[in-house]
Amino acid sequence: MKPRLRFAPSPSGYLHIGGARTALFNWLWAKSQGGVFVLRVEDTDQERSSIESVRAILDAFRWLGMDWDEGPEVGGPYAPYFQSERKAIYREHVERMISGGHAYRCYCTKEELDRQREELKARNPKAQFVYPGTCRNRTDQPDLAYVVRFKSPHEGATEFVDKVFGHITTPNAAQQDFVLVRTDGYPLYNLAATIDDHLMDITLVARARDHIGNTPQQILIYRALGWQPPEFAHLPMMLSPKGDKLSKRHTAVSVQEYRDRGYPPAGVLNYIVRFGWSAGDQEIFGLSELVQKFSWDHVNKSDGKFDDKKFADVAFEHLKRPELTPLEAYAENVRPFLAERGIADPNARTLLAAVPGVRERARTYKDAASDLDFYFREPPELDVKARDKLLDAAGAARLVELASALAGHETWDATALEGAVRTWAEARNLAIKDVAQPARVALTGRSASPPLFEVMVVLGKDRSLARLRRAPALVSS
Ligand code: GLU
Ligand code: ZN
Repeated sequence: MKPRLRFAPSPSGYLHIGGARTALFNWLWAKSQGGVFVLRVEDTDQERSSIESVRAILDAFRWLGMDWDEGPEVGGPYAPYFQSERKAIYREHVERMISGGHAYRCYCTKEELDRQREELKARNPKAQFVYPGTCRNRTDQPDLAYVVRFKSPHEGATEFVDKVFGHITTPNAAQQDFVLVRTDGYPLYNLAATIDDHLMDITLVARARDHIGNTPQQILIYRALGWQPPEFAHLPMMLSPKGDKLSKRHTAVSVQEYRDRGYPPAGVLNYIVRFGWSAGDQEIFGLSELVQKFSWDHVNKSDGKFDDKKFADVAFEHLKRPELTPLEAYAENVRPFLAERGIADPNARTLLAAVPGVRERARTYKDAASDLDFYFREPPELDVKARDKLLDAAGAARLVELASALAGHETWDATALEGAVRTWAEARNLAIKDVAQPARVALTGRSASPPLFEVMVVLGKDRSLARLRRAPALVSS
């Protein structure tokens, strides 16, 4: 059977960067094996779930370039993919577990359980309260609110072989009669996830290791329902730089924030894949290369610490290399950031011509948009400090003369322009930099820009000359 993998987000916010890592491992495995990647929305906690959050998560997936074969919007043979629409399915299975003697209704109220917890605490402050099984053998069915609890076996052990963590054995005696269904009829995570993973024919459940303690309970549920559990792989955690849980206090944790910063999606995937997976010393991977190389043999148990600087470096590396971010993709992706700056419809040819001049330097698409800005604004924004330092009235007057000299120049490429400007400057006993720096201010409004003659080529003859001729106006403004 083809591998069927899933990612099962609870839609109570955005796609967390750690969640994206977990999804990525599932997605890579599905892609590399010709398998199926399922998105299942675990929205049984109605108070915390929202449709906006589902949308945000799907948007993040689309942006990252991780497509899903089944799930929201695309449907599939195992629909519905929202747990909130599967309540009848859970109910039916819970009934089966109750009649088979694997689960029971517990009528203990919260107050009763709280009181028992307090009593235990008074006797032994360190003891962990365990539901004492009060209703385990109850046969009456009073007309009272109840939860459904799993009837955990007291003997034996639950074992599984994790693809990453190896053999794991948990004594069943350590398991209390955990809750399957709440008083309001909503299933809890362990129940719903197990039923769905089985009914959706999931072959391998890969998720972060903070779920590893749930797995024995889930296996007990599989067994109670007479089902064969899937394989499991638990993944190491993405931790904060200090080694605790990664949260907003440390860094941006939503995928969306990295998009807004102007990171390239493949750079994001490249950074997060290293939390648990490696291929020798190689640091930089394109997405298709990841699909080719990913395998469970190279997934390890060590948690990783999040490092903003390293993340930024990986993102930058993707932006620099044309084989990872082809020119056309770069130009497309920088557009939203130009739009943010009020440049909604940059000339496509200018943009393609200009990108190579900035990609070596711009660490994000946002930086790139800032570096490219002067190409698309007439006149370019003027950095007054640069003007005060580099452009005075005499220099501006010379640029007007230079413009006239270049007007007769037919070949408008960088080499020819450089030669022409040099010759012109030498004839006037000027150093090239005494012309180049003022010209840079006139052409770009700045003191730093891509190489001057490249700028002139990208701007084209007419716009270059017009900007040089406007230099005197910059001085008096
Ligand atoms: N909804 C669960 C979560 O977001 C899914 C865990 C799992 O993959 O089983 O943590
Ligand atoms: Zn009870």
